[in-house]
Amino acid sequence: MKIICIGRNYANHARELGNQIPDDPVVFCKPDSSILQPRNPFVIPPWSQEIHHEIEFLVRIGRVGKYIDQKHALSYIDAITVGIDFTARDLQNELKEKGFPWEKSKGFDGSAVIGKWILGSPNKNYQITLLKNKVIAQNGNTSQFIFSMEEIISHVSKFFTLKKGDIIFTGTPSGVGPITAGDQLEGRLDGESLLSLNIR
Ligand code: ZN
Repeated sequence: MKIICIGRNYANHARELGNQIPDDPVVFCKPDSSILQPRNPFVIPPWSQEIHHEIEFLVRIGRVGKYIDQKHALSYIDAITVGIDFTARDLQNELKEKGFPWEKSKGFDGSAVIGKWILGSPNKNYQITLLKNKVIAQNGNTSQFIFSMEEIISHVSKFFTLKKGDIIFTGTPSGVGPITAGDQLEGRLDGESLLSLNIR
């Protein structure tokens, strides 16, 4: 399976990092080794001084598709949840400056945190919330997407055949920020707690 991520899909987050609003979805991948095993803590890697949390809405693909038409796109989703796209912001800024790929800063071990999958209906909007030490750190709604779920699936499937079990991270709203050892994070989808982890 593969993990496909969308960057800059909320205008307020693009602005907070000083990025332009893109004309096409910004797409990158995480390897399957980036998945944090359930119930494990996230351990801050020794090579970064600035790991940021990015809470995101996640969809799981239920069947194979390529060049998927927007009008059929939602039928390729078989489950939804929230997840965290951990980002080594210091390394990402360094790589961006040099014009190098982001992968090391976005695809390292443990950087993909995946909540409990639920059925849900892909054509409604969802509130995604991240609590850090029980205080709301990020709060967004999928209605604020720059690129809709249909546009994302259609666009991505032009380049990558989507397969059963693939996961799409759909971008983070504003409020990203650093984590430190001892923090406790909780992710909610429409108020339902689907993810919880400790930082070490
Ligand atoms: Zn992200």
